Amino acid sequence: MDLLVTALVAALGLAIGSFLNVVVWRVPRGESVVSPPSACPRCSHPIRPVDNVPVLSWLLLRGRCRNCGEPIARRYPAVELGTAVLFVLTAWTIGITWALPAFLYLAGITVCLAIIDLDTRRLPNVIVLPSYPVAAALLTLASWNPGGETAWGSLVRALICCAILYAFYFMLMFAYPAGMGFGDVKLAGVLGLYLGWVGWGALAVGAFGAFLLGGLYAIGLLVARRAGRKSGIPFGPWMLLGAMLGIVAGEAVWQSYLDLVL
Ligand SMILES: [Zn+2]
Repeated sequence: MDLLVTALVAALGLAIGSFLNVVVWRVPRGESVVSPPSACPRCSHPIRPVDNVPVLSWLLLRGRCRNCGEPIARRYPAVELGTAVLFVLTAWTIGITWALPAFLYLAGITVCLAIIDLDTRRLPNVIVLPSYPVAAALLTLASWNPGGETAWGSLVRALICCAILYAFYFMLMFAYPAGMGFGDVKLAGVLGLYLGWVGWGALAVGAFGAFLLGGLYAIGLLVARRAGRKSGIPFGPWMLLGAMLGIVAGEAVWQSYLDLVL
């Protein structure tokens, strides 16, 4: 991928990251993400467009409100930078194809859902539920692949895997209600769409990866004595991270596993 395209994708990531900062703050509080415009939480001074440039403004203002000097959390530029990096990695993995919009959307909800789940232990319906039609539409575009070979089989597999992963988490919620919420179940269906579109290997590695990563983290917390045996950890971030692993490496891992066994 050439440098110009990489820069464009990074700039898009910075802009989306700036919007996601608004999402992770306002959505858990039940506020609108479009109005009112951003303002300083202390002095309520509206943030001027020139002070709202991702990362750059934070650096130029040295992390403080121009009006009252209130510190602006480091999280803001970090989320913007993180989204930009994830967008570039996504474009490198998927390529500049008709599938890219679908996977950039996934990258966007990954950032905001992971942060909101860590903050509040919730995966808000207002983000997860619309993701079903949005992901389905974008994956339909990816399968249609105008000007190239169609991949309708991938779309059918996506729908099947959506149902499989949803049902799997639904059963887990009943088997282990302390560790799994209905928010996780609903997110599982969305991730199933994506993993299924990539392939069966992606689904297997993506689903297993969530439990492996989440389990390792829980053991790490226990060892560090920062969590009791009963304190639950938010599982959404591990589901999202596992899905990333499945999308990037799932097919290759699955193939070498089959080679080993057969
Ligand atoms: Zn202020």
